[in-house]
Amino acid sequence: MIEKRQFYINGQWVAPAKAHDFQVIDPSTEDPCAVISLGGQADTDSAVAAAKAAFDTWAFTPKAERLALIERVFEVYNRRSDDLAEAISLEMGAPIDMARQQQAPAGTWHIGNFINAFKEFEFDRPLGDHALNDRILLEPVGVVGMITPWNWPMNQVTLKVIPALATGCTMVLKPSEIAPLSAMVFAEIMEEAGTPAGVFNLVNGDGAGVGTQLSTHADVAMISFTGSTRAGIAISKNAADTLKRVHLELGGKGANLIFADADDKAVKRGALHCFNNTGQSCNAPTRMLVQRAVYDQAVETAAAVAEGMAVASAHSPGRHIGPVVSEAQFNKIQDLIQTGMDEGARLVAGGLGRPEGVNRGYFVRPTVFADVSNDMTIARQEIFGPVLSIIPFETEEEALQIANDTDYGLTNYVQSQDGARCNRLARKLRSGMVEMNGQGRAAGSPFGGMKQSGNGREGGVWGLEDFLEVKAVSGWSND
Ligand code: NAD
Repeated sequence: MIEKRQFYINGQWVAPAKAHDFQVIDPSTEDPCAVISLGGQADTDSAVAAAKAAFDTWAFTPKAERLALIERVFEVYNRRSDDLAEAISLEMGAPIDMARQQQAPAGTWHIGNFINAFKEFEFDRPLGDHALNDRILLEPVGVVGMITPWNWPMNQVTLKVIPALATGCTMVLKPSEIAPLSAMVFAEIMEEAGTPAGVFNLVNGDGAGVGTQLSTHADVAMISFTGSTRAGIAISKNAADTLKRVHLELGGKGANLIFADADDKAVKRGALHCFNNTGQSCNAPTRMLVQRAVYDQAVETAAAVAEGMAVASAHSPGRHIGPVVSEAQFNKIQDLIQTGMDEGARLVAGGLGRPEGVNRGYFVRPTVFADVSNDMTIARQEIFGPVLSIIPFETEEEALQIANDTDYGLTNYVQSQDGARCNRLARKLRSGMVEMNGQGRAAGSPFGGMKQSGNGREGGVWGLEDFLEVKAVSGWSND
């Protein structure tokens, strides 16, 4: 059993003020695999005090010094990538090869991209040629509380910690209590890279405890949160009394619009994308909207993808999908599959229960529903499991109307070889991101949503701006 009871506060590994053990469960076996501590108010206060004290110095360090630290973090992160992958695989069930090839490298990608954006970024700018004595100074917002989920742990942690470091903020990270082990490795990386004491702090805890304490803390200037819409609402309310800036990256119910003129691989690509990470991605294309002319073929192809998808332990090598993260998620997904059947969707692959021959671990059968209508529960709620809903449509207008008829607005997808149609839809889809014909977003592209998918943008220049205050100065001396 791994024992990781300490927190990282003010450059030291420290015991919690009061012992409060919490077991981390390996979702592949349902057995406890590690013990951590859940922090309390005293731990939160001490981490916030350390961050507050460090802010006065860190906020004014030269850009070159902050860049040098991030480059060291990048180097140590890459060296410890395998440790991160193993921790992620154990704590949240990503198959080990996938954890090595996607989960841990997501952090490498973000740190590298931030280094590039940061090098170009001007923190001190003239207002314009018309006002030579007006200066715009972009300054760090202050102490940031960071609350992260379990599904892409290092993706989320690096999207918050690195821009905060770059902009001169100090921080307290509270990773998901369900998947805290990779974040503990990350704290070791921050220590080894030589992060000054107090600039980065980590306190483990749950939402009701440390999560709420950070959200209400008078000395925390901003909360950067990724997780469920439910928790995002609670955090926003809790942060209101101290008027914190609240940056939210929440859930999604992405539509994938597949037209009759889509390329041959579009359906297979969409189904595989939906099932990747066992369906536990906020930007997963979980509603597949298919034009009538190719609908039957698409249903057949998607069902075949699901039937052909291996499900196995996260500890086994290979290209299978792993378990879902927890018993609570397993039960929620089972309930939603049952609801899909009860509401009249046509089950064409997968279904209730574990895959054949499996009786332990939170394994879910890759599931496809056809003939889904957009008012069914499975089309409206984020399932966060390997469950695809296929919805037919006739015209472009109808597809657009269905796609936008959702509380969420994170990523939508378009598959068509008609470029003019793609671009038209890209403008009309109400989401923070639109990805077309399988092309992923490039380095430096911002990630974030509209509507109940949140309000922030992470990555690239926008990811830096989210951590900055804009100060307008007049009477600036140019002598
Ligand atoms: P969750 O909201 O239950 O937990 C996320 C984090 O918030 C955890 O650290 C948890 O301890 C904390 N938390 C929970 N309740 C809180 C509260 N009241 N106050 C403060 N903190 C609280 O979500 P989860 O189950 O860990 O993650 C899955 C969800 O995250 C999904 O809905 C998914 O779509 C979303 N997600 C969104 C993005 C994005 O960028 N848009 C990325 C990944 C995950």
